[in-house]
Amino acid sequence: MCDPCLTPPLRLSGIVEESIVDGPGLRFVLFTQGCPHHCKGCHNPQTHSFSGGFLLRAEDVLTRMQEDPLLAGVTFSGGEPFEQAQALCAVAQGVRRMGLDVVTFTGYTYEALLRRADSWTDRLLALTDLLIDGPYVESLRDPELRFRGSSNQRELDRAARERLRLRMAS
Ligand code: SF4
Repeated sequence: MCDPCLTPPLRLSGIVEESIVDGPGLRFVLFTQGCPHHCKGCHNPQTHSFSGGFLLRAEDVLTRMQEDPLLAGVTFSGGEPFEQAQALCAVAQGVRRMGLDVVTFTGYTYEALLRRADSWTDRLLALTDLLIDGPYVESLRDPELRFRGSSNQRELDRAARERLRLRMAS
């Protein structure tokens, strides 16, 4: 469980309160600050530093989201959201209690996240309805793709992730 009193603040590079391009429906988007991937051609290099951006508490995100009845859910984008998995779990839990869904972008592959064997990573995966995984690969850039920047990236719902998890275990 995420205790708001013990949860570290989020370090963010930006917020978009209403987006229609970062997942299904109208979404509240948190752009996390800090990314270890350094993909060639990254469109958000200002998010790479782990010391930049600004701090915000999960409760403050949830309060702002409650003011918008049109939202379908929250999207965690980057930066690399899984570098702040504990803080994002607190947001994701609250969002799901509101009856909304969670979309998480990551520069890691799903398989690499499983191999981390980290409890907060596993928890954020469990709270995520739709995962969009993999680094941005400039040579595979495709502006026609829904939500994704390059064709190596995948849209993984819960069922697709379970299939991959079972394949890894076999
Ligand atoms: S994972 Fe995303 S934010 Fe990080 S370097 Fe790659 S494209 Fe940029």
